[in-house]
Amino acid sequence: MAKAGIDEERVTGVPPSMAPVDDELTPMLTQYVELCTAHEDALVLFQVGDFYEAFCEAAEAVARICEVTLTQREDSTGEYPMAGIPIDNAASYLEALLNAGYRVAIADQVEDAEEATGLVDRAVTQVITPGTIVDDELLESATANYVAAVAGETTADGGPDGRSADLVGLAAVDVSTGECLVTDGDRETIAEELQRIAPAELLGSPDGPEFPPDTVGADWEENEYDPAAFELDRASERLGEYVAAPERRFSRVQRRAAGAVLAYAEYTQGDDGPLEYVSRIRRYDTRDHLRLDSAALRSLELFENRNSGDGTTLFDSLDRTVSALGRRRLERWLRRPLLDRDRIEARHEAVAELADRPIVREEIRDHLAAAYDLERLVGRISRGRADARDLRSLHATLEIVPELRAALSDDGGSDAERESDPLEALRDRLDPLSDVRELIDEAIATDPPTEITEGGIVCEGFDERLDDLRATERDGRAWVADLEASERERTGIDSLKVGHNQVHGYYIEVTDPNLDRVPDDYRRRQTLKNAERFYTPELKRREDEILGAAERADTLEYELFTGVRSQVAAEADRIQALASAIAELDALASLSTVAVEREYVRPSVRSDGEIEIEGGRHPVVERTQSEFVPNDATLPRGSIAVITGPNMSGKSTYMRQIALCVVLAQSGSFVPAQRARLPVVDRVFTRVGASDDIAGGESTFMREMAELTEVLHDATPDSLVLLDEVGRGTATTDGQAIARAAVEFVHEELEATTLFATHYHDLTTLADEYERVFNLHFTATREDGDVTFLHRVARGPSSSSYGVEVAEMAGVPEPVVRRAREFLEAVDRTERSPAGADEGSSDSTVDDDGDTDPRDGTGQEGDVPAGRHGVLSALREVDLARTTPMEALLTLQELQERLDDE
Ligand code: ADP
Ligand code: MG
Repeated sequence: MAKAGIDEERVTGVPPSMAPVDDELTPMLTQYVELCTAHEDALVLFQVGDFYEAFCEAAEAVARICEVTLTQREDSTGEYPMAGIPIDNAASYLEALLNAGYRVAIADQVEDAEEATGLVDRAVTQVITPGTIVDDELLESATANYVAAVAGETTADGGPDGRSADLVGLAAVDVSTGECLVTDGDRETIAEELQRIAPAELLGSPDGPEFPPDTVGADWEENEYDPAAFELDRASERLGEYVAAPERRFSRVQRRAAGAVLAYAEYTQGDDGPLEYVSRIRRYDTRDHLRLDSAALRSLELFENRNSGDGTTLFDSLDRTVSALGRRRLERWLRRPLLDRDRIEARHEAVAELADRPIVREEIRDHLAAAYDLERLVGRISRGRADARDLRSLHATLEIVPELRAALSDDGGSDAERESDPLEALRDRLDPLSDVRELIDEAIATDPPTEITEGGIVCEGFDERLDDLRATERDGRAWVADLEASERERTGIDSLKVGHNQVHGYYIEVTDPNLDRVPDDYRRRQTLKNAERFYTPELKRREDEILGAAERADTLEYELFTGVRSQVAAEADRIQALASAIAELDALASLSTVAVEREYVRPSVRSDGEIEIEGGRHPVVERTQSEFVPNDATLPRGSIAVITGPNMSGKSTYMRQIALCVVLAQSGSFVPAQRARLPVVDRVFTRVGASDDIAGGESTFMREMAELTEVLHDATPDSLVLLDEVGRGTATTDGQAIARAAVEFVHEELEATTLFATHYHDLTTLADEYERVFNLHFTATREDGDVTFLHRVARGPSSSSYGVEVAEMAGVPEPVVRRAREFLEAVDRTERSPAGADEGSSDSTVDDDGDTDPRDGTGQEGDVPAGRHGVLSALREVDLARTTPMEALLTLQELQERLDDE
């Protein structure tokens, strides 16, 4: 792959015939070509006044992608194409270029065009890439925007069990906030981490390993970057600019990844030194967090909706944060649920306290809503890119801190002493930063302009020199303002006017009839149709004074402003710490708001590994379903629940709600249930069988087996495994074989707590064969031939009758379904004789509702074919020409079961 994801044709602005620079080009084009050569992996946009221009081939690309006009520019050397985008709303154009796979180098004018002698100097001030955008307009505030790098290494002796012992380092930087994360792990762990971090851009080391997005089910731009940046020595040296003695804290692969990603971040920011705002490099251990493999992330729909469209994700439905800081924090919590019981319980405790104090909570959320995105602000401040408004935004955010502290001190009137108060600890971390606040207040005007070179930024009274200059300017203007009256008096010309225009400055205007009364000291400035304009030496002197003072004031303001900005930047660490505390408070308040509004319960964390949920609900489905049926779950450690029931009866929802309760609890949230006692789970695995794919044949079978073993390999007794219709994509016999093999493997080898949904009724016999396997089932009732799902789980295997619904869903021809149903009703009636209730079922309504009047719908009781005769006649009715293999199998299964039941 070419650099910057740009293939060979997508060249930069330099047409081959133009490089190397030849002296026939105009100075401006020469400058452009030089910049293009220095940034050959990017498309260079060149500031010309209010536009970013591209020339030659780059112009063609810009015109095509941004849908702007391609013009021809003509100069002494000939004609060449040119295309420009307006700087004022460059954001959407830049986005289009990024989406088209370009890196964009912005070459700004770095000297004042008016002061420049000859060509204005230009320099690349930033290179914009998908992972390193800092422009707010291009950034989604909800999520962090990472650029990541990976570097791998294979240990010579190989792994213990013959599996490869690749170690992969991963480093990610959020350039907009300065957050930098470093970790390492085996290939699979890092693939999961990449899923979780979801970088916008991924840099791979030249020696691999590769993580193509489609293999991990993610979406990022793969980029190559200077291979030398990944070399251990170089990378360590780079990292050494940020932390002392990196080799003591970071593994080799970590150093290589971190060094490379930092080099890249520096490059894109147009800086040649270390990035000041990357103040902390956080190394973390993937084993500190509940691991969710990529299939789990997707199938539990934590952040991504699989049935794209209306659906919401868990994060969407849980996010009641009011600030961008809080939103990102909540996302991080959900992406990295905790494993440490104390930390989990501390979050629960804080959520509980906020839940108990609704007024305090609302007050806090009201204040938090006024918080600006401190992490990004401090990033801009440290990068020297913040304007005066940014400092005011910081000020506005600092103003809420005392309010937050006050709200948190309010114990809601109760004087009960709490044993440990996580909120109190949080309050202590809310540093009001009064020094910074006062500085901004004294220095920066309340509603400053965005432009930082044109004055109007610094407050009166902040700097004496500035005040003097402003006084001079004011006095001068006051003198001019009085001039009209005094000159009228002096000259006796009543129509005399004093005015100002851009070109000529101040003037005294006298109409032609009065010209004979003009005094000697008037000098002609401009002749109009019916009047003359004059100035006097005194007016000229005053004018120069005003202009001089104004100009010097602007320059001084700029200096003062950048001074204040650096002073604030020096406090970046404290601001970041405050940002972190605010983020945490917002995330906690969001969790407790959800907990209260949706009647979630505080889970208790237990150590015997058993999952016990009473009245559990699916946090997302319950919000779209008018009447969600809560269900219980009791899963001792290492048990395997085989869940049977027809399609659409609620199996998948049930399994997922259990997994989601676990994830929520370990993220610090309350859970949607009446009561919950949950263990600390180390990993959640999910496997969802391929959707019905009759043509899939063996390849599907092989794939499912392969995926299954891969997924299950790392499960431990503390893991939670969800297998949903595994084996479904294959022929019935293969599917059952896979399913059996999986259950056996989980039971004998892994001892992980497992939920296994299947529509293969035969698998219910596994409970007889394996000690820790038990059956659960979902049922449906039939009324007037319509199927109604109860969505209620019950112990024991399902009655075998659901096969008809399965057949119907699978599209078995109408006549067969009808016959089967007639026949089933006959059987039902026989079974319903006194002691016929479903064994082990606590769910009598199933059978009651199923007991519809036999005379309904399907003809006379006496006509219902029974026993072998019924099977034969059903068989005769099958229209073989219109039956698929799958349907035939289901029909056969159905008929066999009938015979077995006799
Ligand atoms: P299965 O996996 O058995 O085919 P699903 O879990 O996909 O069934 O559920 C099918 C549909 O039934 C869901 O989309 C949802 O609308 C509804 N549903 C599932 N569980 C419940 C429940 N407990 N209460 C109400 N509706 C439910
Ligand atoms: Mg399902």
